Amino acid sequence: DLVLFWHRRDLRIADNIGLATARQRSNKVVGVFCLDPNILERDDVAPARVTYMIGSLQELQQRYVQAGSQLLILHGDPVQAIPHLAEALNAKAVFWNWDVEPYSQTRDRAIIATLKDKGIQCLTHNWDQILHSPDEIRSGSNTPYTVYTPFWKNWGSKPKAKPVETLHNVEGLTESEQELAQKAGVKALPTAKDLGFFWDADLVIAPGEAAAQAKLAEFTAKAITEYQEQRNFPAVNGTSQLSAALKFGVIGIRTVWQATLEALENSRSEETTAAIRTWQQELAWREFYQHAMYNFPELADGAYRETFKNFPWETNEEHFQAWCEGKTGYPIVDAAMRQMNESGWMHNRCRMIVASFLTKDLLINPQLGEKYFMQKLIDGDLSANNGGWQWSASSGMDPKPLRIFNPASQSQKFDPDAEYIRQWVPELRSMDTEYLVTGKITPLERHAVGYVKPIVDHQKQQQLFKQRYQQQKATS
Ligand code: FAD
Repeated sequence: DLVLFWHRRDLRIADNIGLATARQRSNKVVGVFCLDPNILERDDVAPARVTYMIGSLQELQQRYVQAGSQLLILHGDPVQAIPHLAEALNAKAVFWNWDVEPYSQTRDRAIIATLKDKGIQCLTHNWDQILHSPDEIRSGSNTPYTVYTPFWKNWGSKPKAKPVETLHNVEGLTESEQELAQKAGVKALPTAKDLGFFWDADLVIAPGEAAAQAKLAEFTAKAITEYQEQRNFPAVNGTSQLSAALKFGVIGIRTVWQATLEALENSRSEETTAAIRTWQQELAWREFYQHAMYNFPELADGAYRETFKNFPWETNEEHFQAWCEGKTGYPIVDAAMRQMNESGWMHNRCRMIVASFLTKDLLINPQLGEKYFMQKLIDGDLSANNGGWQWSASSGMDPKPLRIFNPASQSQKFDPDAEYIRQWVPELRSMDTEYLVTGKITPLERHAVGYVKPIVDHQKQQQLFKQRYQQQKATS
């Protein structure tokens, strides 16, 4: 019996729960990926992200061929395209892995209904991209967690599944079936450029399973042991840069977790063990935000906390543009925004700094920043990005009422030699470190190197923010 496996954010054949389940059901498993205009034609799609996705699909196609089968590419709304293909090929079943995002769930329900009408079986409720199902991790009163620390205690203490078997030794479509597939809309994989996305710079991580596995191996062999100390310094290559691979499921989360367990086994010191545990906690943040999105889909539409639901944000297009372009006159903020604009990735410390700056210094609605991040990031992901923005704006699931980052003290602490600033803001390269990390650059010096003056005063703005916050709190 022919079984189709629909890939979405699981662009791999290794450690893929739904795919392994499909393989158990049949030895004729054919992969399918659908280029969905409902996603690709939105105005928050990053060229770097599409380039990474297409590159990963290219490799996935080769892997299917090596395993004996094919990965078919469809264009169009999956609600019609997937059932149409399944019917044309007389497939007995369609399998896929479940997803936390509201759009995916609505889409999937519609497809399940159509497939059922056509008498085609579907098996869809595999959780593959997370280690525990959102229904499994519950508080003592059987409600979903809204605070990270107790979530981590519960989630972290639960045993985790091992990686599942890689797809191998399967049959694919016969020639006549391939013709039927083409008639049903299967096309060659386009390039990102064909789809209108131009990205010529190097990607922080090369696409495809091989590169993701190599990155994981490299990171867990060394950098993970120093993660605790190094992870906060944007000039240091101290984090895994696996975020795009995790977003698109180019690597399996069980494989990643397994690698952390092996690193723990090899650990010879308390510091190393603590560093590895800290990295595991980052994986738990990822999962916390995915569970939150699943359980509280309203997060996607704006502030979670009452105080921020009708917050009087500023409408200042000039300030917003300056922030987007990295021309605020605050060196660390500008370095970070330019890193994202030019490389498609930004260090986590800097994501927090620029998000705080947009919301607490410019008093601009975090939803604008959240969208701009999606337009640029290779790893742009609804749950993680929304979680990060709500945390930074103080509007989300965070017990701390207010969090304001001071750009100067952040630079002094985390970029003390201004290496990161110099890397991304070339006009400041020749300036003394002291000026760069304190931001106290005289008008004359700014003028001499052609660097903008600060668009706002941090001290004044944070006072203004606090005032508005107190007013809102009193009335909400
Ligand atoms: P590592 O430090 O090596 O961490 C390992 C993995 O854990 C990451 O690859 C990621 O999958 C996960 N992770 C780490 N930190 C977080 C976190 N705070 N929240 C959720 N997952 C985490 N991450 C995204 O993947 N996509 C986004 O769109 C995104 N937007 C963000 C927006 C803001 C405002 C903030 C503050 C954070 C955002 N993050 C996002 C989280 C984090 O910045 C990135 O995951 C991290 O910088 C990626 O680098 P890395 O792979 O080297 O991370």
